[in-house]
Amino acid sequence: MVKAEGVHKSFGTAHILKGIDLEVAPREVFCLIGPSGSGKSTFLRCINHLEKINAGRLSVDGELVGYRQRGDKLYELKDSEVARKRRDIGMVFQRFNLFPHMTALENVMEAPVQVRGEAKASARARAERLLDRVGLADRAGNYPSQLSGGQQQRVAIARALAMEPKLMLFDEPTSALDPELVGDVLDVMRGLAEDGMTMIVVTHEMGFAREVGDALVFMDDGVVVESGHPRDVLTNPQHERTKSFLSKVL
Ligand code: ATP
Ligand code: MG
Repeated sequence: MVKAEGVHKSFGTAHILKGIDLEVAPREVFCLIGPSGSGKSTFLRCINHLEKINAGRLSVDGELVGYRQRGDKLYELKDSEVARKRRDIGMVFQRFNLFPHMTALENVMEAPVQVRGEAKASARARAERLLDRVGLADRAGNYPSQLSGGQQQRVAIARALAMEPKLMLFDEPTSALDPELVGDVLDVMRGLAEDGMTMIVVTHEMGFAREVGDALVFMDDGVVVESGHPRDVLTNPQHERTKSFLSKVL
């Protein structure tokens, strides 16, 4: 579903991604861990067309990200083409980024109606189903300020799902939450995984990685240091850098 081959990304003279190679299979829960500044968010942003890679190849569902290939030549995609492709990818951030002046239900309905031009009635029906799925059927009429952080994050997940993405990216979705609210959000993500959603999850929740993850990559300083099944990497890390990182977070 996602394939990175020698992906490089620099900001000015700062070389951030230094040749990332990895592959995410359909229906896989792919966890990404690593120290602050190692390039995890940058990599997710590249997948989601928020940043352009400088070298290498990055594809989602068999299509290059940001470019169209004709023969040997690459052409940059037009903004409208990028916008269309971005609809297939849902992203959930550390901060919930809900529209404050809209209710939970309106937040979830917004993109299907505004971006896809869907009829309000069907968008509303799906939004209600999605809020139910994240355990917030009774909160549809609440504004974000009336919801806890964990509830807001679950609305954010429902909002991302409303566009029926084929891939979900999570960038530390629980790190801004009070500890007692983390579990509900992880449960929603676990449910998504059970339903077969392909997910890339940047997280510090090693319990989630171990129990739900199908693959785990440890990234440091812009490269993949180690990857494998989460249980193997977490219990038997092969590289010094992985060991040292895990000793701080486990
Ligand atoms: P954290 O765990 O703290 O979220 P991260 O692994 O997600 O870290 P990134 O956010 O990808 O790390 O950042 C990697 C490096 O890239 C950092 O040094 C950051 O300062 C730099 N960086 C990220 N975005 C930009 C930008 N738009 N312009 C310049 N530098 C950037
Ligand atoms: Mg980050």
